[in-house]
Amino acid sequence: MQIQKKAVIVGAGVGGLATANYLAQNGYAVEIYEKNANPGGRCGQMIQDGHRFDLGATILLMPSLYKQVLSELGIDLEKDLETTSLEPVYKLFFSDGSDFAFTRDPSQMKMQLEAIELGSFQKYQKYVKEGYEYFNLSMNDLLGKNFDHLFQFVNFKSMRLLLKLKTYLYHTDYIQRYFTHLHLRMAFTFQNIYVGQNPYEAPAFFSMLPGAEIAEGALFPKGGMHRIVETLIALADKQDVKIHYKKPIEKILVDGKRTYGIMLEDGTIVHADLVIANADLPYVYDQLLPDKRKAKSLKKKKYSCSAIVFHWGLDKVYPELEHHSVFLNDPYKEGLEKIFKEKSLSGNPSFYVHAPVRTDKSAAPENQDTISVVIPVAHIDEKYDQDWKKLKQIAREGVIRRLEEAGMYDFEEHIKFELCYLPKTWESSCNVTRGSVFGSLSHSIFQMGYFRPHNQHKKYKNLYFAGGSTHPGNGVPLVLLGAKLTSERILKDAKINY
Ligand SMILES: Cc1cc2nc3c(=O)[nH]c(=O)nc-3n(C[C@H](O)[C@H](O)[C@H](O)COP(=O)(O)OP(=O)(O)OC[C@H]3O[C@@H](n4cnc5c(N)ncnc54)[C@H](O)[C@@H]3O)c2cc1C
Repeated sequence: MQIQKKAVIVGAGVGGLATANYLAQNGYAVEIYEKNANPGGRCGQMIQDGHRFDLGATILLMPSLYKQVLSELGIDLEKDLETTSLEPVYKLFFSDGSDFAFTRDPSQMKMQLEAIELGSFQKYQKYVKEGYEYFNLSMNDLLGKNFDHLFQFVNFKSMRLLLKLKTYLYHTDYIQRYFTHLHLRMAFTFQNIYVGQNPYEAPAFFSMLPGAEIAEGALFPKGGMHRIVETLIALADKQDVKIHYKKPIEKILVDGKRTYGIMLEDGTIVHADLVIANADLPYVYDQLLPDKRKAKSLKKKKYSCSAIVFHWGLDKVYPELEHHSVFLNDPYKEGLEKIFKEKSLSGNPSFYVHAPVRTDKSAAPENQDTISVVIPVAHIDEKYDQDWKKLKQIAREGVIRRLEEAGMYDFEEHIKFELCYLPKTWESSCNVTRGSVFGSLSHSIFQMGYFRPHNQHKKYKNLYFAGGSTHPGNGVPLVLLGAKLTSERILKDAKINY
């Protein structure tokens, strides 16, 4: 009889929970140790006075990736999570008072586009078709597989792929081939922010984001994004995965070329045959492992931007807001430079609003609203004089002023309570390096594919990683895909070693 192997996972984020389920499904005894009282990490939830908030992730994009992973675990995305496909995907609001529904309905899209710029609908069709091709190409050849050695990545085929994906061109230069009007250029490039990037510095193949939005849409699981976490936990329970909350791990224990388990903050030692670190990878190298050389080199990498998030319980519902609304404010380029170059925030920041009551009444008491606002902001950088109290005030005033301009005149008066997450809150609550919540490591071309930190430790071969800072990247769909890739590597290694 084969002895059951024991896997210990550091963190109950989406990456940790999905990996736990893969391994349990394949006969491993799995234990998860989570520092917080609740699961989900950046996909966590808070309920206050009947208002339910998704604390971090709110948009379910790229449903094909969710389906690919969840179906392997026996979860049916649409049925088990009771999803609704959102239409429009979101509504954009511009500073001049105009708005634009980011719709999947071709006739409505045509009407809106042609009213802004004659001939733009045909160009739009080409742009999103190509974007979706980049999405499929990247999933097949860049993001959706494990790389074992450099030459699998740096070879003639992948060089051709990188050219095809227009990695030599900035997204904002590429969009100029399609649209002249600034609002259209903004509408089809701002999505870089989802992965913590400046569209003025990101490669053109990130047109895969709007491409995938139009091709696949955005879903909303009943109960919010945290439903994904709940579903993974329900499955983990069925598979006897043990989850220990309020158990911060202080060290991953190593001996020679192996890890033999973990040490908790209270000194308890837990032995394991293998360890999977779901906590943010640069943090793991810096704080939980002994070798500081790699930690030092990771500090020099590029990091994604961060976010200031306001969660508001309101005693009034504002019909002006869609389920997802995005306010792209002038001056747009300068606003991005404030975040990415000056490591600060513009006085008139762009932001995103989540208003789930539009789709799911259970998110707030009757005739009340649950609103979360995400304002992209610089990550924590000690080299800059960042006054977070002041930046929080700038963000709050900017958001309320803009909502009033959009017709929500009495918005502030109707706020019953407020919860605010600053970059340092993300850093302390989830151990995300520099509070860079959309990474932490950025998705620059030299930090993707083979160049992104690998999901297996170079020296300690039974130490693996699953989460946003390892291959393939951040965002719930990629983290799920990453959990699958990490699990495949573990299972492949187990076959070789036995
Ligand atoms: C404001 C915001 C908006 C977002 N919007 C979206 C969106 O709309 N759509 C989308 O797809 N993605 C979105 N994301 C990104 C998404 O939330 C993340 O990609 C994803 O949740 C990351 O999962 P993870 O498993 O990699 O890491 P995490 O969620 O960070 O999980 C890691 C876990 O490890 C735990 N941990 C850390 N250190 C220790 C330790 N020493 N001991 C024990 N446990 C430890 C942490 O507490 C945490 O629970 C957003 C994120 C934020 C913050």
